[in-house]
Amino acid sequence: MNKSEAIEEKKITQADIQKLFQDAGLKMTNQRIAVYREILRDSAKQFHPTAEQVYEGVRRHLPAISLNTVYRALTSLAEKGLVKRLSNFSSSDLYDGLLSDHWHFICTQCGSIQDIFVEEGNFPDIPEVAGDIEEVVVQFRGVCRECRGKGGPERDKAEHVEAI
Ligand SMILES: [Zn+2]
Ligand SMILES: [Zn+2]
Repeated sequence: MNKSEAIEEKKITQADIQKLFQDAGLKMTNQRIAVYREILRDSAKQFHPTAEQVYEGVRRHLPAISLNTVYRALTSLAEKGLVKRLSNFSSSDLYDGLLSDHWHFICTQCGSIQDIFVEEGNFPDIPEVAGDIEEVVVQFRGVCRECRGKGGPERDKAEHVEAI
């Protein structure tokens, strides 16, 4: 469990961020903090941004920041475990500030991604296969409620795609 799970974005203070960064051994820079805050704001809305979308958001607070700096900040944050990088959704990596165990439902029509929470007890028994499992990545693909409401194809059941 990571400490940042317990901290809600709206209540997160500079001191909280300082502690998270310190524990992770990550130097505090204005750029990294701005990038991290942007990701937390997005994940509170279940929005999983690309690096470019993070850049667009951060630029509103730090107009001089470059896309390259945002990339580098994202890489450091992901390496230190403060954000998750999702590589299986589209051609671009997506970033997620929600560190607790959860899966994703991706809409094949509009591309929106919703967080799906799984009770720990409902986790399937995974046999010890080739080695120690460190992470399970599950994607549900289907048509979201909003798109279905717009008269999209009637598909109630999400296709279940497993991607590791
Ligand atoms: Zn949709
Ligand atoms: Zn998520």
